[in-house]
Amino acid sequence: MRGRPVLILGGTAYARIIADALVEQGHDVVTSLAGVTRAPLLAKGRLRTGGFGGVAGLVDYIGSENIRMLIDATHPFAAIMSAHAVAAAAQTGVPLLRLERPAWQPRAGDRWISVNSMEEAAHVLPAGARVLVTTGRKGLTHVFARQDVAGVIRSIEPPDEALPAAWRLLLDRPPHTLASEMALLGAEHITHVLSKNAGGDATRAKLDAAREMAIPVVMIDRPQKPKAACFGSVDELLSAVGKDLG
Ligand code: NAP
Repeated sequence: MRGRPVLILGGTAYARIIADALVEQGHDVVTSLAGVTRAPLLAKGRLRTGGFGGVAGLVDYIGSENIRMLIDATHPFAAIMSAHAVAAAAQTGVPLLRLERPAWQPRAGDRWISVNSMEEAAHVLPAGARVLVTTGRKGLTHVFARQDVAGVIRSIEPPDEALPAAWRLLLDRPPHTLASEMALLGAEHITHVLSKNAGGDATRAKLDAAREMAIPVVMIDRPQKPKAACFGSVDELLSAVGKDLG
C-alpha cells in the first residue's frame, strides 16, 4: 500500500466506487460511515463507523491516523458532515475534495413542486394524495402526520417509527429502471412522488417515470454546503486525486 491513508466520508454508492478505485490503485483508504444503515454495502479498504464527535473529533482523527487527504463523498443532504469536513480541513491543512453531483433540473414535461424541507413537502400534498416517498427512512413524521394522505414509503431499511395503516413499506435498494418505476407508480395508483434532489443517475428513473405519467414530483431542494473544491463526477474527482497523490 502506498503512502499515508486517504479518508473518505461515505454513505453513498459513489463513495464506494471512489474507495474501490483508490484501493485498486494501491492507496491506503479508510471509508467512514455514520452508522445509520444497519447493513451497509461495504467498499474495498478499511472501514470506520460512527460520528467523530464534531469538528474537534474529526481533527483528532485526522491527526492520530495521519490522514493525507479528505474526500467528502457524502450525500448532498448530509450538510453537517460536509461543513465539519471543511472546518477540519482548514484546521489541519489536509486537502479536501468533495464529490458534488449536479442537482437534477426539471425537463420539459416535468411537474415539480419545489420545497425546502420534509415539513414543507408534507404541507403541499393535496388531501387524498397517494404518495411514493423516496426520501429515506428518516424524517417521515411530518408526512405521517397528514392523515388525509397515504401511499408507499420506499427505503433501504425500515423507518424507526411505526407505519400508520394507510402506508405500505417497500424495502428496496436503487438503481431502478424506468419500466419498473412506471409499473410501481401505476400499480400503487400514485398521484405524487416525494423526492430529495439527490442528483446522479442511480435514483433518477422515478423522475423520468413521473414525467411519462404526468405525475407531480414534490422535490426537496438541497441544503447549502460551505465552499470546497468540488467535482461533479467520480471520474473528475479521481483524476484530481491522482494529480494530488501522484
Ligand atoms: P449529517 O446530518 O450531515 O451529519 C450528522 C452527523 O452524523 C455528523 O455530525 C457526524 O457526526 C455524523 N456523520 C455523518 N456522516 C458521517 C460519516 N460519513 N462518517 C462519520 N460520521 C458521519 O448526515 P446525515 O444526513 O444524517 O447522513 C448520515 C450518513 O448517511 C452520511 O454518511 C450520508 O452520506 C448518508 N446518507 C444521507 C442521506 C440523507 O438524505 N441525508 C441519504 C443517503 C445517505 P459527528 O459530528 O459526531 O462527527
